[in-house]
Amino acid sequence: LDHIAKADVQVHAFLELTADAAMQAAQRVDNAIAAGTFDQLGPLAGVPVAFKDNMNLVGTHTTCSSHMLENYVSPYTATCVQRIIDAGGLPLGKLNMDEFAFGSTTESSAFGPTHNPWDLGRVPGGSSGGSAAAVAAGMACVTLGSDTGGSIRQPASFCGIVGVKPTYGMVSRYGVVAFGSSLDQVGPFARSVEDAAAAMDALCGHDPLDCTSQDVKADFRAACQQGIEGMRVGIVRSFMDAKGLSPEVRERVNEAAAKLEAAGATIVEVDLPHIDAAISAYYVLGPCEAFSNLARFDSVRYGYCEEGHKDLGGQYEASRAHGFGEEAKRRIMLGSYLLSAGVYEQYYYPAQQVRTLITQDYRNAYGQCDVILAPTAPATAFKFGEIADPATMYLSDVFTISINIAGNGGMSVPCGLGAQSGMPIGVQLIAPQFKDENMFRAAMALEA
Ligand code: GLN
Repeated sequence: LDHIAKADVQVHAFLELTADAAMQAAQRVDNAIAAGTFDQLGPLAGVPVAFKDNMNLVGTHTTCSSHMLENYVSPYTATCVQRIIDAGGLPLGKLNMDEFAFGSTTESSAFGPTHNPWDLGRVPGGSSGGSAAAVAAGMACVTLGSDTGGSIRQPASFCGIVGVKPTYGMVSRYGVVAFGSSLDQVGPFARSVEDAAAAMDALCGHDPLDCTSQDVKADFRAACQQGIEGMRVGIVRSFMDAKGLSPEVRERVNEAAAKLEAAGATIVEVDLPHIDAAISAYYVLGPCEAFSNLARFDSVRYGYCEEGHKDLGGQYEASRAHGFGEEAKRRIMLGSYLLSAGVYEQYYYPAQQVRTLITQDYRNAYGQCDVILAPTAPATAFKFGEIADPATMYLSDVFTISINIAGNGGMSVPCGLGAQSGMPIGVQLIAPQFKDENMFRAAMALEA
Protein backbone atom coordinates (compact mmCIF):
# COMPACT_ATOMS: atom_id res chain seq x y z
CA LEU A 1 0.00 0.00 0.00
CA ASP A 2 2.92 2.32 0.71
CA HIS A 3 4.41 1.50 -2.68
CA ILE A 4 1.09 2.27 -4.41
CA ALA A 5 0.86 5.60 -2.58
CA LYS A 6 4.23 6.56 -4.09
CA ALA A 7 4.31 4.87 -7.49
CA ASP A 8 0.73 5.50 -8.51
CA VAL A 9 1.13 9.28 -8.40
CA GLN A 10 2.91 8.91 -11.74
CA VAL A 11 1.42 5.73 -13.15
CA HIS A 12 -2.25 6.33 -12.27
CA ALA A 13 -3.35 2.71 -12.46
CA PHE A 14 -5.78 2.80 -9.53
CA LEU A 15 -9.18 4.49 -9.49
CA GLU A 16 -10.12 3.29 -6.00
CA LEU A 17 -8.18 1.64 -3.19
CA THR A 18 -9.74 -0.92 -0.86
CA ALA A 19 -7.00 -0.81 1.77
CA ASP A 20 -9.24 -2.01 4.63
CA ALA A 21 -10.44 -5.06 2.72
CA ALA A 22 -6.84 -5.90 1.79
CA MET A 23 -5.66 -5.57 5.41
CA GLN A 24 -8.54 -7.73 6.66
CA ALA A 25 -7.78 -10.43 4.09
CA ALA A 26 -4.09 -10.26 5.07
CA GLN A 27 -5.10 -10.72 8.71
CA ARG A 28 -7.02 -13.88 7.78
CA VAL A 29 -3.90 -15.24 6.09
CA ASP A 30 -1.81 -14.34 9.17
CA ASN A 31 -4.30 -16.14 11.39
CA ALA A 32 -4.11 -19.23 9.19
CA ILE A 33 -0.31 -19.19 9.40
CA ALA A 34 -0.51 -18.93 13.20
CA ALA A 35 -3.04 -21.78 13.35
CA GLY A 36 -0.92 -23.95 11.02
CA THR A 37 -3.71 -24.06 8.40
CA PHE A 38 -2.03 -21.98 5.67
CA ASP A 39 -1.86 -25.04 3.38
CA GLN A 40 -5.65 -25.20 3.34
CA LEU A 41 -5.92 -21.72 1.82
CA GLY A 42 -6.30 -21.26 -1.93
CA PRO A 43 -3.64 -20.83 -4.63
CA LEU A 44 -3.52 -17.04 -4.15
CA ALA A 45 -3.25 -16.94 -0.36
CA GLY A 46 -1.68 -13.64 0.62
CA VAL A 47 -1.22 -12.43 -2.96
CA PRO A 48 -2.04 -8.73 -3.56
CA VAL A 49 -4.63 -8.52 -6.35
CA ALA A 50 -6.70 -5.82 -8.06
CA PHE A 51 -9.49 -5.60 -10.61
CA LYS A 52 -10.35 -3.72 -13.78
CA ASP A 53 -13.05 -1.17 -13.03
CA ASN A 54 -15.69 -2.92 -15.15
CA MET A 55 -15.89 -5.69 -12.53
CA ASN A 56 -18.27 -5.43 -9.61
CA LEU A 57 -16.92 -5.68 -6.09
CA VAL A 58 -19.62 -5.03 -3.55
CA GLY A 59 -19.36 -1.61 -1.92
CA THR A 60 -16.82 -0.22 -4.40
CA HIS A 61 -17.44 2.08 -7.33
CA THR A 62 -17.61 0.34 -10.69
CA THR A 63 -17.17 3.25 -13.07
CA CYS A 64 -15.95 1.63 -16.32
CA SER A 65 -13.87 4.85 -16.38
CA SER A 66 -16.98 6.72 -17.51
CA HIS A 67 -18.77 9.78 -16.14
CA MET A 68 -21.91 7.76 -16.82
CA LEU A 69 -21.09 5.45 -13.87
CA GLU A 70 -18.96 7.83 -11.80
CA ASN A 71 -21.19 7.45 -8.72
CA TYR A 72 -22.32 3.87 -9.26
CA VAL A 73 -21.62 1.60 -6.29
CA SER A 74 -21.65 -2.18 -6.83
CA PRO A 75 -24.51 -3.91 -5.01
CA TYR A 76 -22.87 -7.34 -5.53
CA THR A 77 -19.59 -8.99 -6.52
CA ALA A 78 -18.68 -10.48 -9.92
CA THR A 79 -17.96 -14.21 -9.90
CA CYS A 80 -14.40 -13.73 -11.23
CA VAL A 81 -13.61 -11.22 -8.47
CA GLN A 82 -15.15 -13.47 -5.81
CA ARG A 83 -13.10 -16.45 -6.99
CA ILE A 84 -9.85 -14.51 -6.75
CA ILE A 85 -10.74 -13.33 -3.24
CA ASP A 86 -11.87 -16.85 -2.23
CA ALA A 87 -8.52 -18.17 -3.45
CA GLY A 88 -6.85 -15.97 -0.83
CA GLY A 89 -6.10 -12.80 -2.83
CA LEU A 90 -5.77 -9.51 -0.94
CA PRO A 91 -8.04 -7.08 -2.84
CA LEU A 92 -6.23 -3.75 -3.28
CA GLY A 93 -8.81 -1.96 -5.42
CA LYS A 94 -10.08 -1.05 -8.86
CA LEU A 95 -8.05 -0.21 -11.95
CA ASN A 96 -8.23 2.33 -14.76
CA MET A 97 -9.31 1.39 -18.28
CA ASP A 98 -10.54 2.85 -21.54
CA GLU A 99 -14.13 4.00 -21.14
CA PHE A 100 -16.36 0.91 -21.25
CA ALA A 101 -13.29 -0.96 -22.61
CA PHE A 102 -13.35 0.85 -25.97
CA GLY A 103 -9.75 1.49 -26.92
CA SER A 104 -6.15 0.35 -26.97
CA THR A 105 -4.36 2.98 -24.86
CA THR A 106 -6.38 3.84 -21.70
CA GLU A 107 -6.49 7.41 -23.06
CA SER A 108 -10.27 7.31 -23.29
CA SER A 109 -10.70 6.98 -19.51
CA ALA A 110 -12.86 9.84 -18.20
CA PHE A 111 -10.48 10.05 -15.23
CA GLY A 112 -7.22 10.56 -17.11
CA PRO A 113 -4.87 8.05 -18.72
CA THR A 114 -2.62 5.46 -17.11
CA HIS A 115 1.10 5.76 -17.90
CA ASN A 116 3.39 2.93 -18.95
CA PRO A 117 5.74 2.23 -16.00
CA TRP A 118 8.60 1.53 -18.47
CA ASP A 119 8.34 5.03 -19.97
CA LEU A 120 5.82 7.45 -18.52
CA GLY A 121 5.56 9.25 -21.87
CA ARG A 122 4.04 6.15 -23.44
CA VAL A 123 0.68 4.42 -23.12
CA PRO A 124 0.36 1.14 -21.21
CA GLY A 125 -1.95 -0.21 -23.91
CA GLY A 126 -5.60 -0.87 -23.37
CA SER A 127 -8.30 -1.22 -22.66
CA SER A 128 -7.03 -2.98 -19.50
CA GLY A 129 -4.10 -0.55 -19.20
CA GLY A 130 -4.49 0.00 -15.46
CA SER A 131 -4.44 -3.76 -14.82
CA ALA A 132 -1.22 -4.19 -16.83
CA ALA A 133 0.53 -1.13 -15.41
CA ALA A 134 -0.29 -2.10 -11.81
CA VAL A 135 1.49 -5.45 -12.23
CA ALA A 136 4.39 -4.00 -14.24
CA ALA A 137 4.98 -1.32 -11.57
CA GLY A 138 4.96 -3.92 -8.79
CA MET A 139 1.77 -2.53 -7.23
CA ALA A 140 -0.07 -5.88 -7.44
CA CYS A 141 1.03 -9.44 -8.22
CA VAL A 142 -2.11 -10.52 -10.05
CA THR A 143 -4.79 -8.33 -11.63
CA LEU A 144 -7.82 -9.09 -13.72
CA GLY A 145 -8.65 -7.56 -17.08
CA SER A 146 -11.22 -8.21 -19.78
CA ASP A 147 -10.46 -8.87 -23.43
CA THR A 148 -12.98 -8.30 -26.22
CA GLY A 149 -10.50 -7.81 -29.07
CA GLY A 150 -7.10 -7.78 -27.39
CA SER A 151 -7.51 -5.74 -24.22
CA ILE A 152 -5.56 -8.15 -22.01
CA ARG A 153 -2.91 -9.36 -24.44
CA GLN A 154 -1.92 -6.01 -26.00
CA PRO A 155 -1.35 -4.16 -22.68
CA ALA A 156 0.51 -7.21 -21.35
CA SER A 157 2.82 -6.94 -24.37
CA PHE A 158 3.26 -3.16 -23.94
CA CYS A 159 4.07 -3.53 -20.22
CA GLY A 160 6.33 -6.58 -20.38
CA ILE A 161 4.15 -8.99 -18.38
CA VAL A 162 2.02 -12.10 -18.93
CA GLY A 163 -1.63 -11.61 -19.93
CA VAL A 164 -4.15 -14.37 -20.59
CA LYS A 165 -7.42 -14.34 -22.51
CA PRO A 166 -8.96 -17.74 -21.84
CA THR A 167 -11.22 -19.60 -24.27
CA TYR A 168 -14.68 -18.01 -24.37
CA GLY A 169 -16.76 -19.69 -21.67
CA MET A 170 -13.89 -20.68 -19.35
CA VAL A 171 -14.31 -17.74 -16.99
CA SER A 172 -17.67 -16.40 -15.82
CA ARG A 173 -18.73 -12.98 -17.09
CA TYR A 174 -21.34 -12.57 -14.34
CA GLY A 175 -20.94 -9.16 -12.75
CA VAL A 176 -18.60 -7.81 -15.44
CA VAL A 177 -20.06 -4.85 -17.34
CA ALA A 178 -20.67 -6.14 -20.87
CA PHE A 179 -19.08 -4.65 -24.00
CA GLY A 180 -19.55 -7.38 -26.64
CA SER A 181 -21.18 -10.30 -24.86
CA SER A 182 -20.16 -12.92 -27.44
CA LEU A 183 -16.53 -11.70 -27.43
CA ASP A 184 -15.78 -10.61 -23.83
CA GLN A 185 -13.65 -12.83 -21.66
CA VAL A 186 -11.98 -12.17 -18.29
CA GLY A 187 -8.41 -13.21 -17.60
CA PRO A 188 -5.36 -12.56 -15.41
CA PHE A 189 -2.21 -10.44 -15.68
CA ALA A 190 0.88 -11.61 -13.79
CA ARG A 191 4.65 -11.29 -13.84
CA SER A 192 5.27 -14.96 -14.54
CA VAL A 193 3.53 -17.76 -16.41
CA GLU A 194 3.15 -19.81 -13.22
CA ASP A 195 1.56 -16.90 -11.38
CA ALA A 196 -0.92 -16.55 -14.24
CA ALA A 197 -1.55 -20.32 -14.04
CA ALA A 198 -2.35 -20.06 -10.32
CA ALA A 199 -4.84 -17.28 -11.07
CA MET A 200 -6.40 -19.34 -13.88
CA ASP A 201 -6.80 -22.31 -11.54
CA ALA A 202 -8.78 -20.05 -9.23
CA LEU A 203 -10.81 -18.36 -11.99
CA CYS A 204 -11.99 -21.19 -14.23
CA GLY A 205 -15.00 -23.37 -13.67
CA HIS A 206 -18.71 -23.44 -14.24
CA ASP A 207 -20.90 -20.60 -12.98
CA PRO A 208 -24.69 -21.12 -13.10
CA LEU A 209 -25.08 -17.31 -13.21
CA ASP A 210 -23.51 -17.05 -16.71
CA CYS A 211 -25.32 -19.15 -19.31
CA THR A 212 -22.22 -19.22 -21.55
CA SER A 213 -20.01 -20.56 -18.75
CA GLN A 214 -18.74 -24.08 -19.47
CA ASP A 215 -18.14 -26.90 -17.08
CA VAL A 216 -14.49 -27.38 -17.89
CA LYS A 217 -11.63 -27.05 -15.50
CA ALA A 218 -7.97 -27.61 -16.23
CA ASP A 219 -5.01 -27.79 -13.87
CA PHE A 220 -2.89 -24.98 -15.25
CA ARG A 221 -0.16 -25.24 -12.65
CA ALA A 222 0.28 -28.91 -13.53
CA ALA A 223 0.31 -28.03 -17.25
CA CYS A 224 3.25 -25.69 -16.57
CA GLN A 225 5.37 -28.70 -15.56
CA GLN A 226 4.58 -30.80 -18.63
CA GLY A 227 7.18 -29.57 -21.13
CA ILE A 228 6.62 -29.34 -24.89
CA GLU A 229 8.36 -32.42 -26.25
CA GLY A 230 6.58 -33.32 -29.50
CA MET A 231 4.30 -30.27 -29.47
CA ARG A 232 3.45 -28.87 -32.92
CA VAL A 233 3.65 -25.08 -33.06
CA GLY A 234 1.92 -23.33 -35.97
CA ILE A 235 3.16 -20.13 -37.58
CA VAL A 236 0.75 -18.10 -39.71
CA ARG A 237 2.64 -16.79 -42.72
CA SER A 238 0.24 -13.88 -43.34
CA PHE A 239 0.79 -12.67 -39.76
CA MET A 240 4.56 -12.77 -40.13
CA ASP A 241 4.44 -11.02 -43.52
CA ALA A 242 1.95 -8.36 -42.38
CA LYS A 243 2.87 -4.89 -43.65
CA GLY A 244 2.39 -3.16 -40.31
CA LEU A 245 4.54 -5.61 -38.30
CA SER A 246 7.63 -3.82 -37.02
CA PRO A 247 10.97 -5.56 -37.66
CA GLU A 248 11.88 -5.66 -33.96
CA VAL A 249 8.66 -7.54 -33.14
CA ARG A 250 9.13 -9.96 -36.06
CA GLU A 251 12.65 -10.65 -34.78
CA ARG A 252 11.34 -11.59 -31.32
CA VAL A 253 8.67 -13.91 -32.73
CA ASN A 254 11.28 -15.71 -34.85
CA GLU A 255 13.49 -16.02 -31.80
CA ALA A 256 10.58 -17.47 -29.83
CA ALA A 257 9.97 -20.05 -32.58
CA ALA A 258 13.63 -21.10 -32.40
CA LYS A 259 13.40 -21.37 -28.63
CA LEU A 260 10.32 -23.61 -28.80
CA GLU A 261 12.03 -25.79 -31.39
CA ALA A 262 15.09 -26.12 -29.16
CA ALA A 263 12.80 -27.22 -26.32
CA GLY A 264 11.42 -30.11 -28.38
CA ALA A 265 8.59 -28.64 -30.44
CA THR A 266 8.21 -28.85 -34.21
CA ILE A 267 7.35 -25.74 -36.19
CA VAL A 268 4.73 -26.02 -38.93
CA GLU A 269 3.28 -23.40 -41.23
CA VAL A 270 -0.50 -23.00 -41.07
CA ASP A 271 -2.91 -20.94 -43.11
CA LEU A 272 -5.91 -18.89 -41.94
CA PRO A 273 -7.41 -17.99 -45.34
CA HIS A 274 -10.11 -15.55 -44.12
CA ILE A 275 -8.04 -13.76 -41.51
CA ASP A 276 -7.83 -10.50 -43.47
CA ALA A 277 -11.55 -9.93 -42.87
CA ALA A 278 -11.22 -10.21 -39.07
CA ILE A 279 -10.82 -6.50 -38.29
CA SER A 280 -13.78 -5.51 -40.46
CA ALA A 281 -15.98 -8.22 -38.95
CA TYR A 282 -14.98 -7.22 -35.42
CA TYR A 283 -15.67 -3.52 -35.96
CA VAL A 284 -19.16 -4.47 -37.12
CA LEU A 285 -19.98 -7.10 -34.48
CA GLY A 286 -18.31 -5.29 -31.56
CA PRO A 287 -20.16 -1.96 -31.95
CA CYS A 288 -23.47 -3.77 -32.60
CA GLU A 289 -23.18 -5.68 -29.35
CA ALA A 290 -21.90 -2.61 -27.51
CA PHE A 291 -24.85 -0.56 -28.78
CA SER A 292 -27.29 -3.17 -27.41
CA ASN A 293 -25.46 -3.48 -24.09
CA LEU A 294 -25.07 0.26 -23.52
CA ALA A 295 -28.77 0.91 -24.07
CA ARG A 296 -29.25 0.19 -20.35
CA PHE A 297 -27.37 3.36 -19.43
CA ASP A 298 -30.37 5.56 -20.02
CA SER A 299 -30.12 7.76 -16.87
CA VAL A 300 -33.19 6.07 -15.39
CA ARG A 301 -31.97 2.63 -14.40
CA TYR A 302 -28.27 3.37 -14.07
CA GLY A 303 -25.80 6.13 -13.76
CA TYR A 304 -25.59 9.80 -14.52
CA CYS A 305 -28.89 11.65 -14.75
CA GLU A 306 -29.26 15.24 -15.88
CA GLU A 307 -32.47 16.50 -14.37
CA GLY A 308 -34.65 19.50 -15.15
CA HIS A 309 -35.77 18.50 -18.63
CA LYS A 310 -39.33 18.94 -19.86
CA ASP A 311 -39.74 15.35 -20.96
CA LEU A 312 -38.03 11.97 -20.65
CA GLY A 313 -36.57 12.21 -24.16
CA GLY A 314 -34.73 15.38 -23.18
CA GLN A 315 -33.39 13.72 -20.05
CA TYR A 316 -32.10 10.69 -21.97
CA GLU A 317 -30.47 12.87 -24.56
CA ALA A 318 -28.73 15.25 -22.19
CA SER A 319 -27.62 12.51 -19.80
CA ARG A 320 -26.14 10.37 -22.54
CA ALA A 321 -24.60 13.38 -24.28
CA HIS A 322 -22.73 14.35 -21.11
CA GLY A 323 -22.28 10.90 -19.54
CA PHE A 324 -20.52 9.20 -22.46
CA GLY A 325 -17.15 10.15 -23.94
CA GLU A 326 -16.32 10.45 -27.62
CA GLU A 327 -15.30 6.85 -28.38
CA ALA A 328 -18.33 5.40 -26.54
CA LYS A 329 -20.60 7.66 -28.60
CA ARG A 330 -18.83 6.61 -31.79
CA ARG A 331 -19.44 2.92 -31.03
CA ILE A 332 -23.07 3.50 -30.04
CA MET A 333 -23.80 5.42 -33.22
CA LEU A 334 -21.98 2.89 -35.37
CA GLY A 335 -23.89 0.00 -33.75
CA SER A 336 -27.28 1.67 -34.08
CA TYR A 337 -26.62 2.40 -37.75
CA LEU A 338 -25.30 -1.10 -38.52
CA LEU A 339 -28.32 -2.77 -36.93
CA SER A 340 -30.90 -0.62 -38.68
CA ALA A 341 -33.19 -2.16 -41.31
CA GLY A 342 -31.54 -2.44 -44.73
CA VAL A 343 -28.05 -1.89 -43.31
CA TYR A 344 -28.19 -4.98 -41.09
CA GLU A 345 -28.35 -7.24 -44.14
CA GLN A 346 -25.32 -5.56 -45.68
CA TYR A 347 -23.05 -5.55 -42.63
CA TYR A 348 -24.14 -7.45 -39.54
CA TYR A 349 -25.27 -10.58 -41.34
CA PRO A 350 -22.13 -10.96 -43.51
CA ALA A 351 -19.96 -10.20 -40.47
CA GLN A 352 -21.54 -13.19 -38.74
CA GLN A 353 -20.78 -15.33 -41.79
CA VAL A 354 -17.16 -14.15 -41.73
CA ARG A 355 -17.09 -15.09 -38.06
CA THR A 356 -18.05 -18.68 -38.92
CA LEU A 357 -15.37 -18.84 -41.64
CA ILE A 358 -12.65 -17.59 -39.29
CA THR A 359 -13.71 -20.05 -36.60
CA GLN A 360 -13.45 -22.86 -39.17
CA ASP A 361 -10.04 -21.56 -40.30
CA TYR A 362 -8.74 -21.99 -36.76
CA ARG A 363 -10.33 -25.46 -36.43
CA ASN A 364 -8.64 -26.55 -39.65
CA ALA A 365 -5.29 -25.11 -38.58
CA TYR A 366 -5.45 -27.06 -35.33
CA GLY A 367 -5.56 -30.26 -37.39
CA GLN A 368 -1.86 -29.56 -38.00
CA CYS A 369 -0.72 -27.96 -34.76
CA ASP A 370 -1.37 -27.80 -31.00
CA VAL A 371 -0.74 -24.10 -30.50
CA ILE A 372 -0.13 -21.10 -32.77
CA LEU A 373 2.73 -18.64 -32.23
CA ALA A 374 2.12 -15.05 -33.41
CA PRO A 375 2.95 -11.45 -32.63
CA THR A 376 0.72 -9.91 -29.95
CA ALA A 377 0.81 -6.36 -31.28
CA PRO A 378 2.39 -4.90 -34.43
CA ALA A 379 4.73 -2.63 -32.46
CA THR A 380 5.75 -1.57 -28.95
CA ALA A 381 3.88 0.96 -26.78
CA PHE A 382 3.18 4.24 -28.56
CA LYS A 383 3.66 7.73 -27.19
CA PHE A 384 0.64 9.60 -25.86
CA GLY A 385 -1.39 11.10 -28.68
CA GLU A 386 0.76 9.34 -31.30
CA ILE A 387 -2.26 7.67 -32.89
CA ALA A 388 -5.04 10.22 -33.08
CA ASP A 389 -7.15 8.68 -35.83
CA PRO A 390 -9.58 5.99 -34.57
CA ALA A 391 -9.39 3.89 -37.76
CA THR A 392 -5.57 3.61 -37.48
CA MET A 393 -5.99 2.69 -33.83
CA TYR A 394 -8.42 -0.10 -34.80
CA LEU A 395 -5.73 -1.62 -37.05
CA SER A 396 -3.44 -2.15 -34.07
CA ASP A 397 -5.70 -5.06 -33.01
CA VAL A 398 -4.86 -7.02 -36.14
CA PHE A 399 -3.18 -9.97 -34.35
CA THR A 400 -5.53 -10.31 -31.39
CA ILE A 401 -9.05 -9.78 -32.71
CA SER A 402 -9.56 -13.01 -34.65
CA ILE A 403 -9.01 -15.00 -31.45
CA ASN A 404 -12.06 -13.38 -29.84
CA ILE A 405 -14.04 -13.89 -33.03
CA ALA A 406 -13.23 -17.61 -32.97
CA GLY A 407 -13.47 -17.91 -29.17
CA ASN A 408 -10.01 -19.48 -28.76
CA GLY A 409 -7.61 -18.96 -25.89
CA GLY A 410 -4.70 -16.55 -26.34
CA MET A 411 -1.94 -15.25 -24.13
CA SER A 412 0.91 -12.79 -24.40
CA VAL A 413 4.29 -13.72 -22.94
CA PRO A 414 7.14 -11.20 -22.56
CA CYS A 415 10.08 -11.90 -24.88
CA GLY A 416 12.58 -9.19 -24.12
CA LEU A 417 12.94 -5.63 -25.35
CA GLY A 418 12.84 -4.20 -28.84
CA ALA A 419 16.25 -3.62 -30.41
CA GLN A 420 15.17 -0.16 -31.65
CA SER A 421 12.56 1.04 -29.16
CA GLY A 422 14.00 -0.48 -25.98
CA MET A 423 10.40 -1.19 -24.95
CA PRO A 424 8.97 -4.60 -23.95
CA ILE A 425 7.65 -6.98 -26.61
CA GLY A 426 5.24 -9.85 -26.05
CA VAL A 427 4.62 -12.81 -28.30
CA GLN A 428 1.24 -14.45 -28.51
CA LEU A 429 0.36 -18.11 -28.06
CA ILE A 430 -3.06 -19.14 -29.35
CA ALA A 431 -4.71 -22.37 -28.20
CA PRO A 432 -7.59 -24.40 -29.62
CA GLN A 433 -10.87 -23.85 -27.73
CA PHE A 434 -10.68 -25.32 -24.20
CA LYS A 435 -7.09 -26.49 -24.74
CA ASP A 436 -5.66 -23.46 -22.96
CA GLU A 437 -3.15 -25.73 -21.16
CA ASN A 438 -1.27 -25.97 -24.47
CA MET A 439 -0.43 -22.28 -24.46
CA PHE A 440 0.74 -22.44 -20.85
CA ARG A 441 3.08 -25.32 -21.68
CA ALA A 442 4.59 -23.37 -24.56
CA ALA A 443 4.71 -20.17 -22.48
CA MET A 444 6.81 -21.94 -19.84
CA ALA A 445 9.32 -22.96 -22.52
CA LEU A 446 9.54 -19.34 -23.70
CA GLU A 447 10.06 -18.04 -20.19
CA ALA A 448 12.82 -20.55 -19.42
N1 GLN B 1 -9.05 -2.24 -28.94
C1 GLN B 1 -10.25 -3.01 -29.16
C2 GLN B 1 -11.45 -2.12 -29.18
O1 GLN B 1 -11.30 -0.95 -28.95
C3 GLN B 1 -10.37 -4.09 -28.12
C4 GLN B 1 -10.91 -3.62 -26.84
C5 GLN B 1 -11.12 -4.71 -25.85
O2 GLN B 1 -10.62 -5.82 -26.02
N2 GLN B 1 -11.91 -4.40 -24.84
O3 GLN B 1 -12.55 -2.57 -29.42
